[in-house]
Amino acid sequence: MGRMFEIEFEGPFYTCIKCHTHLGLPNDIISKEIDQFGRYEYEFTRLFNTFLGERPFNSAVKDIFCVGCSNIIGIYGVTGGSYWVLRNELHGPEGSDDEV
Ligand SMILES: [Zn+2]
Repeated sequence: MGRMFEIEFEGPFYTCIKCHTHLGLPNDIISKEIDQFGRYEYEFTRLFNTFLGERPFNSAVKDIFCVGCSNIIGIYGVTGGSYWVLRNELHGPEGSDDEV
């Protein structure tokens, strides 16, 4: 996978836990919820360095992939236009509660 399309940020940001690609900004998180499997999900209004993949049997959501490692990091809700990212796929900003 090439890394030529990546955007890098100054200041606090969330990165991919596997490849450290910059994915999102703390200010773009509008909610944090626990899904039906007990996993934390963060809702972002936008993401960077990701691409969406169609699901064959469900057009209401799309999978969100990291461009750096092609890992699925969450789902995009087509109707609401929001990006739900699994907390355990993210590495949070230094000094924040999400820095793990
Ligand atoms: Zn990645």
